[in-house]
Amino acid sequence: MLYSSTQNKNEVVSAAQAIAQGISKDGGLFVPQEFPQYDEAVLKSLLKEDYRGRAKKVFSDFLTDFTEEEIDDCVTKAYTAEKFDGENPAPLAFTSLDGKELNILELWHGPTCAFKDMALQILPHLLTKSLKKTYDGKDAVILVATSGDTGKAALEGFKDVDHTKIIVFYPVNGVSPMQKHQMNTQEGENVKVCAIEGNFDDAQTGVKRIFTTPEIAEKLAENNMLFSSANSINWGRLLPQIVYYISAYCDMVNEGKIAFGDKINVVVPTGNFGNILASYYASLMGLPVNKFICASNSNNVLTDFINTGVYDKNRQFYTTMSPSMDILVSSNLERLLYKLSGNDDKVTCEWMTALKTEGKYEVTDDVKAVIRDKFFGGFCDDAQTQATINKLFSENNYLCDTHTAVAVNVYEQYVEKTGDNTPAVIASTASPYKFSKAVLQAVAPGCELPETEFDMVDKLSKLTGMKVPAPLAGLKNKTARFSDVVKSEEMRDYVLKSLSIE
Ligand SMILES: *Cc1c(COP(=O)(O)O)cnc(C)c1O
Repeated sequence: MLYSSTQNKNEVVSAAQAIAQGISKDGGLFVPQEFPQYDEAVLKSLLKEDYRGRAKKVFSDFLTDFTEEEIDDCVTKAYTAEKFDGENPAPLAFTSLDGKELNILELWHGPTCAFKDMALQILPHLLTKSLKKTYDGKDAVILVATSGDTGKAALEGFKDVDHTKIIVFYPVNGVSPMQKHQMNTQEGENVKVCAIEGNFDDAQTGVKRIFTTPEIAEKLAENNMLFSSANSINWGRLLPQIVYYISAYCDMVNEGKIAFGDKINVVVPTGNFGNILASYYASLMGLPVNKFICASNSNNVLTDFINTGVYDKNRQFYTTMSPSMDILVSSNLERLLYKLSGNDDKVTCEWMTALKTEGKYEVTDDVKAVIRDKFFGGFCDDAQTQATINKLFSENNYLCDTHTAVAVNVYEQYVEKTGDNTPAVIASTASPYKFSKAVLQAVAPGCELPETEFDMVDKLSKLTGMKVPAPLAGLKNKTARFSDVVKSEEMRDYVLKSLSIE
């Protein structure tokens, strides 16, 4: 199977190249030229497999330049019962709200308690094997600018992986106390964590500048290293996300929630559009999905886009209690548009250029029609998010985080509006304990807030009786290893010094 760039169809690469390179030279994103087709027989055969078995099947159909042993090795190392707190890394939890059944796909049982682990636990293994096939003998240097979850998940994924080094930059005042502590206590011989005096954009711009400075690339090359990327436009991060939708469907059948062949709806709290796109890709392979419900917080650029066909990022930016969805440019939407325009690289390129220059584009009527047919967009604000957490907990004793609550709220809106009662799988993207303050205030409005993050975690646990995930509980007694803070102009020197190639 080969991959093309969304902005130039003639740029064609292997899976290993797509993963090693991260992004195409023309600025486009790599997409598979076709999708493997899973008919009834294939899907039925997956019912009997466990998560790892299902993952191996999907990976081997997309990564045709990998051997079976290589895929086996990646999957076995990534999805262990130890790392994911049980045999199934992506289990379903069954609850309900106002008489509607909610099938919650809990994607946060990994080492950093956010769904990004599902991809970032396997990406390092896919990447080192891809590098071996394409740039043999070199060490990959992963630079990450993070607003919280990605940085920690990438650190945990890449720690002590041979032939890789990882450096994470985060805005000094732009992440939650828990997220900062998670990163600063990171273990591993090949990791570095550094705060930036500035905001997330400064960190991101600094990383991009380092990536694209030829003189730095030459220095790395002289020392047998090259830059690589772990962010969500890398195909190696999207592919692992297809697996859990297929797996969830199998589990729904095995649990007797649906009959084999029945359709499901999928509900996803969305930021960069990676997670929901993976569910759409699963449907292109034959997974029976009726509607893709795209949930946003007050940064509702996607809701407007789905409803009008106009993407317009020229609007107020809100800092919300679901920070991983505080995004105005959803990068992976580009992949959807390429597909829906009939693999039209020219028009995709036009829209992306308009987005860069004017912050706005409008898709064709044909594309609008397909989007409206397959997708539903909705949003809710922080007050509605907290009300949903409260209601779900007080009615059914199910505790969810702020991002998941946005999804549940929008799902309720969807059912209200359409009356569609197709069974829904709702993606739950983080442990409530990653956002203890907002969750605590939601379940016990007006309660006295403890001072430290860990006291809030304890209070929330006492109040709800829900177990604190071991990786978060264990952080309490860890001391910080990293305390560097640099100005964004000093990032270049920091990187070179960290790699000992000044
Ligand atoms: C990253 C993230 C999201 C958004 O996922 P996308 O794939 O970027 O749409 C939602 N919730 C949490 C907790 C996240 O970390």
